[in-house]
Amino acid sequence: MSHTPHVYDYVVIGGGTAGSVIASRLTEDPDVTVAVIEGGPSDIDREDVLTLRRWLGLLGGDLDYEYTTVEQPNGNSHILHSRAKVLGGCSSHNTLISFKPLPSDWDEWEQAGARGWGAVPMEAYYARLRNNIVRVADKDQNAIAKDWIDAAKSAIGVPEVIGFNDKPFHEGVGFLDLAYHPENNKRSSASVAYLHPHIEAGDRPNLTLLLETWAYKLELDGKRATGVHVRTKDGAEQLISARQEVVVCAGAVDSPRLLLLSGIGPKRDLEELGIPVTHDLPGVGENLQDHPESVIVWETNRPLPENSAMDSDAALFVRRDESLDAPDLMFHFYQIPFTDNPERLGYERPEHGVSMTPNIPKSRARGRLYLTSADPETKPALDFRYFTDEDGYDARTLVDGVKIAREIAGTEPFAGWLKREVFPGPEVTDDEQLSELLRKAHHTVYHPAGTCRMGAADDERAVVDPELKIRGLDGIRIADASVFPTIPAVNPMIGVLMVGEKAVDLIGGDRR
Ligand SMILES: Cc1cc2nc3c(=O)[nH]c(=O)nc-3n(C[C@H](O)[C@H](O)[C@H](O)COP(=O)(O)OP(=O)(O)OC[C@H]3O[C@@H](n4cnc5c(N)ncnc54)[C@H](O)[C@@H]3O)c2cc1C
Repeated sequence: MSHTPHVYDYVVIGGGTAGSVIASRLTEDPDVTVAVIEGGPSDIDREDVLTLRRWLGLLGGDLDYEYTTVEQPNGNSHILHSRAKVLGGCSSHNTLISFKPLPSDWDEWEQAGARGWGAVPMEAYYARLRNNIVRVADKDQNAIAKDWIDAAKSAIGVPEVIGFNDKPFHEGVGFLDLAYHPENNKRSSASVAYLHPHIEAGDRPNLTLLLETWAYKLELDGKRATGVHVRTKDGAEQLISARQEVVVCAGAVDSPRLLLLSGIGPKRDLEELGIPVTHDLPGVGENLQDHPESVIVWETNRPLPENSAMDSDAALFVRRDESLDAPDLMFHFYQIPFTDNPERLGYERPEHGVSMTPNIPKSRARGRLYLTSADPETKPALDFRYFTDEDGYDARTLVDGVKIAREIAGTEPFAGWLKREVFPGPEVTDDEQLSELLRKAHHTVYHPAGTCRMGAADDERAVVDPELKIRGLDGIRIADASVFPTIPAVNPMIGVLMVGEKAVDLIGGDRR
């Protein structure tokens, strides 16, 4: 243990998507010192990380924590949940699809007890984002994606959306908004947008980045968090202390994991593992949510043009239930045959192909994250309970999705590109058989959220209150995807960045 005191005003645990925003904003005040504890290395000069189109190559590599799931009787037990171990977190690994959450997403939070997080007050935080959010550039718009958009318009009568973030929508098809720089395909991740300018200019002496450093236990003085114990790259153990606050931004897997290892969580579970209970908080690790999706794959009758931003540049939103004010079925369109799961089931990967992925915007499954050991090295267990919702809504959404996908595939000008349906295969038409295959081959778009759920201050199952403070403790907040009460209907990264921006206001308002 090093005896040098390491004391900062704020200690931010996790230099990921939300953590980068918070560290950058807090150090705008030169009198405030911030340490960021980040498990991964810097992303600066890492072309493999910074080039958006290389995202698939990062999955399963040395910058991926790769969390497994526990057995999923109704779903796919083989999913590896990629989580990025690098500055910028998952915004350095992901596809940077950028959707401002829909008004109904924020209003759902407010109704769940997150007072002050409704659509109207949240709007201002979108305007603050520093990321370069632009529609897929003309040069990146592939001919097959354009034809897919035209076919979707005529097959199912949805409008084309040019600018998904310009106004709320309930259905539509079009090229996505991405956080990237089209001129060189460079990411506009949280680290690129919020930290690189200051690292390059050297204008934030008050910001200390402790990279390749792992936080394994919070330090508490009674009910007040005062710092965190970390292990540095060379194995040294240090206590990093916070004069003002500890801000946990380790993401939907590692934030609850760190709390549990620090004795903050469901008392009985902790006792069974022999972890001394510092604060009984039953909601930690509960309410695990995701956006599961399945896949339909086609072989094309010729190779596709090369141009693209990141090989999944367009999306379709459908509203099956017209009483809703948001879409209830989403599709990503991939200019690649996405066959990882079908191949496991014995299907072949065609040389050239495309995929449509029916995705469940508001999955009704609620899972759980828990520890199986008191050893901080042991990865937590993730039980998403995929397709366990009582009325079979999630499974039905996939079956509806394959039917819509087939209609689009039969419509010109997209139909002219396709040679055959590879998965599930045109012979599979029965709903039950479709459901079984689609669930076996289902995947995730890596959106775990909700494991340290925000709720009203007196909600006993909530982990943080509407000021993001851990209920019953002082000096500690959580700000990342784990605080989401419910998952937005759209991809969550912009929501996480906005949580980061709002957290800065909340923290600033409390400065002592
Ligand atoms: C492959 C992939 C594709 C995706 N595509 C999209 C997309 O296109 N659009 C979209 O909206 N969303 C997408 N997502 C989801 C989105 O990226 C995440 O929801 C979001 O980035 C999560 O942000 P976060 O701040 O909660 O966590 P993260 O960004 O994961 O940040 C957590 C950080 O904490 C660090 N850390 C964790 N534990 C510790 C510890 N104990 N000590 C020190 N450091 C620690 C990690 O290294 C990481 O840097 C994707 C995710 C993945 C993985």
